[in-house]
Amino acid sequence: MRATHERAEEVKPGDLDLPAIEREVAARWAESDVLGKSLAQNASGRLWSCCTQPSPAIGVPGIGYARTRTAADLYARFKTMQGMAVPRGHGWDCHGLGVEIAVAHELGLSEIEEIERYGVGRFVARCRESALRHASAFAAVGERMGCLTDQRKIFYTMDRSYIESVWWSLRQIFDAGLLVKDYRIGRYCPRCRTPLAEHEVRGPQVFKKVTGTSVIVRLPIEKPPECAALREYLSGADLLAWTATPWMLPANTGAAVHPGEPYVVARKAGHGDKVVLADARFARVLGEGWHIVAKLTGAELAGVAYRRPFALAGAQDDGIGLVEPDRGVRAYAGTGIAQLAAAYGGGELPLSPAHAVDPIGPDGRFGSDVASLAGLFFANADAAVGADLADRGLLFSAVPNRRSQPHCWRCGTPVLTRALAAWHIRTSAIRDRPSGLAGVVTARGQRLGLGADAADWAVGRTRYWGVPLPIWECSRDHLTCAGSLAELSELAGSDLLGLDPHRPAIDDVVIGCRTCGGPAYRVPETLDASYDTGAMPFALRGAPPGESGGFAAGYPASLAVEGGGHTRNWCDAMTVIAALSDRRAPFHKAISPSSALDDRGRVMGGRPGNQADPTALIERHGADAIRWHFAVATPEQPAAKVTDAAIGRISRRVLGAYLSTALIFAERADQVRGHPPWLNGAVLPVHDRPVHDRPVLDRWLLSELHSAVGEVSEGFDAFRSDVAARRIERFIADLAGWYLRLSRRRLADVADAGQAATVLRTLRDCLDVLTRLMAPIAPHLSDHVWNLIRHQDAPSSVHLAAWPTALTALVDERLSEQMSRVRGIVGVGKAARAASMIGSWQPLTTARLACEGSAAFTPELLMLIAEELNVENVEPVATVPDAAGSPGWLVVSKQAGTVALEVVITPRLRLEGIASRSIRLIKQARRRNGLRIGDLVELAWTTIDDEVGAALTEFSPMISRAVGATDCQRLPSGFRPGAGVIEQTSPELGATFWLRPLARSRA
Ligand SMILES: [Zn+2]
Ligand SMILES: [Zn+2]
Repeated sequence: MRATHERAEEVKPGDLDLPAIEREVAARWAESDVLGKSLAQNASGRLWSCCTQPSPAIGVPGIGYARTRTAADLYARFKTMQGMAVPRGHGWDCHGLGVEIAVAHELGLSEIEEIERYGVGRFVARCRESALRHASAFAAVGERMGCLTDQRKIFYTMDRSYIESVWWSLRQIFDAGLLVKDYRIGRYCPRCRTPLAEHEVRGPQVFKKVTGTSVIVRLPIEKPPECAALREYLSGADLLAWTATPWMLPANTGAAVHPGEPYVVARKAGHGDKVVLADARFARVLGEGWHIVAKLTGAELAGVAYRRPFALAGAQDDGIGLVEPDRGVRAYAGTGIAQLAAAYGGGELPLSPAHAVDPIGPDGRFGSDVASLAGLFFANADAAVGADLADRGLLFSAVPNRRSQPHCWRCGTPVLTRALAAWHIRTSAIRDRPSGLAGVVTARGQRLGLGADAADWAVGRTRYWGVPLPIWECSRDHLTCAGSLAELSELAGSDLLGLDPHRPAIDDVVIGCRTCGGPAYRVPETLDASYDTGAMPFALRGAPPGESGGFAAGYPASLAVEGGGHTRNWCDAMTVIAALSDRRAPFHKAISPSSALDDRGRVMGGRPGNQADPTALIERHGADAIRWHFAVATPEQPAAKVTDAAIGRISRRVLGAYLSTALIFAERADQVRGHPPWLNGAVLPVHDRPVHDRPVLDRWLLSELHSAVGEVSEGFDAFRSDVAARRIERFIADLAGWYLRLSRRRLADVADAGQAATVLRTLRDCLDVLTRLMAPIAPHLSDHVWNLIRHQDAPSSVHLAAWPTALTALVDERLSEQMSRVRGIVGVGKAARAASMIGSWQPLTTARLACEGSAAFTPELLMLIAEELNVENVEPVATVPDAAGSPGWLVVSKQAGTVALEVVITPRLRLEGIASRSIRLIKQARRRNGLRIGDLVELAWTTIDDEVGAALTEFSPMISRAVGATDCQRLPSGFRPGAGVIEQTSPELGATFWLRPLARSRA
């Protein structure tokens, strides 16, 4: 239970220049080589390896990138503090269509022919240069976000050794017969001119609603069935076939009916027109004027021959299509007869190039086979198809429709689903293969595995910038796969170890066929770049297992951190490749920081146009506030909004409250350490005051601290930074919003230095541990504070310090529960004070309180309540009598309990109230004039009001102590102050105060 009015002391944004602190800290890290020191310090520790999805070296660094990098950095810092050896490399995903498109755009090349004219070698060199340039821009943002990177462990997926590892794994798959060129239905981008994998054609960005036409086309029956009865009804009839994609009609190869559903032959009254369609669609499609002349089943229609709607000039057949039975046809949609185009995935006949006639060329445009459509892009051809059909009397009807059309995720062009010959990895063949993958669970609780939908993976790309498929083909169609440059050198009979394995150089390598010895040439394809990154757990080590001693270490990785994006889920790719290469699961645990949303809830990153610029955000709030914002997003949360308001709140309530607490500590500790004369050396013995001997507030704070240490450690251990961050936030609120606020009087007490020393000791213990807890999430600010508070012999950076251990002996759950009740009842008491309309500075006599457990409140706790409510006595009672019956009392009840406040102000209380108000005014004057806690002053006053005079005289010792004054004397009226004296006049009190600062306790 927490009263809502309690807040950690907030810092105004203007007071807090986190970016400036961060720049200074980062410079110190670089200067003193904190990373190098930490790697050396833990070199013999247990290995903890984290693999982060290689960052795509393309576009501009977005918030999603910052998020993935910092998630990995956070856990690496945590494990480092636990003493483990944590390699801190990072990889760059350099290949792929995205890079090619960006480079072609830079060069002003839009068509693939233009790239060929420009020259593949020059183009590939530009792609390499672009990848390096982008990687360096991304690296700078990673560094500014506080991610430490070991420059010796940077790798690029375009590195020769990386590519060789990828080749090695492809060879395993090839040898197992699972890497094959298949003729089958797949996705194809006619602009990028390449097959795409199924995982690239997913998601809301890919499928977009487009306007098209639904048509019903007449298919004249050519050859009625043998059965005499049917022949009579069907001769001269037209099948009414329906399609929502008329552009497929030129490739028509069949018409499908549901074998078990009823169909009808219908005739138009007074007219010879006869059509066939599903019984269920008769009324809807035909309307008035038609009557049924015969009923038959779909099965009886099977085998009926019809004339195709388009005759293709090149087709080697008679232009006849057949009706096919298909239980997948819906007799209640369209006409119940579906047109089939084998080339685009229709029909159940075995797919062959001869059967699947495809009039659309590689550029997505109709060829000259269909004169009326020649040159038209397939997605824009519906109207022309309809017009052509109408001209020939074959169009029964046409209506506009909205349909879902996949688009290339890279270039935005409509994607064709078509039959094509492409390289596939037969993932489906290993779907049930038992592997070491079972038991790997992501942070979201998903179990990894190939899953029931492990579709075969179309890995071949007919492009330039990628890992070339290491497959060579001879004139007798034998295939040879090379697993390394050494192997390739052997096959080619020349030393190719220094060869750049990219296109076009690799295309010139001719080898001897492994089967027949004849010359073999490389197949032109390159590899889907998501295979490159999926091979990372072993490829980053640059060698197949066994050849390098380093392979076993760090495989599998302790943690995988997946980045967002539209491509194949990286963890899936790693899992599939590991299973194919017959290896263990590549990682023990995976987390996928969810994608980031902007303030309007749109996903950030991926395609250009919706990229929050992290640099601008960092310069406004600092990297630590953003890191914290990422850390508190729960893994279940689909996405987190990255807004100025949300990050600003963290700066103030979490980081600001933490920093201001540390600054108060440092300032006061500085004074106390300086042994001012008034301290008389009393500070040292008190420093060792045992915890059980300290005031209840201190014991409570240390108990909260060590329970937080346990929970934060558990959170990080489970890779739940949200659990850890929330627990730290709660502790900071306890520290700044309750402990420090209630301890300020002790901290400022110059008369009893032991009090301040105890507070300082407790604060130091807490800040030391808290700073370590915060280091993984807020690496800059924590290190800045570490410098303010650390022992002389402590490590120079918190990132070289050890993770704290929870001292469970200090955890007092009963006290924690009691304090929470105290805070609850103080909230009720404050509400009662507010309702009384008496200023909070006015002391009152008595508060009676009734709440759960109040009978067990110790005198120390009652004292805290009394101080907070500014009353002289606090009396716990079993029940509080109703307010109505008690004149002079005010009663407020809330969920936390009931408080009755005696609101009668005696003359003595009045005087004390005046003293309190004076203290408040003097403190304000001190703050306004830059005096620090503990800076001593000489205090004097004048007044024209007798009552005020009496109050100031009577309570002079209390006032002096509270405001850090050596004395508090009355001056004759008409007094004129000298230079350097602070004057504070209060018209309401009718009094003026003068403060003369004494020399600072520590010059
Ligand atoms: Zn494309
Ligand atoms: Zn051969």
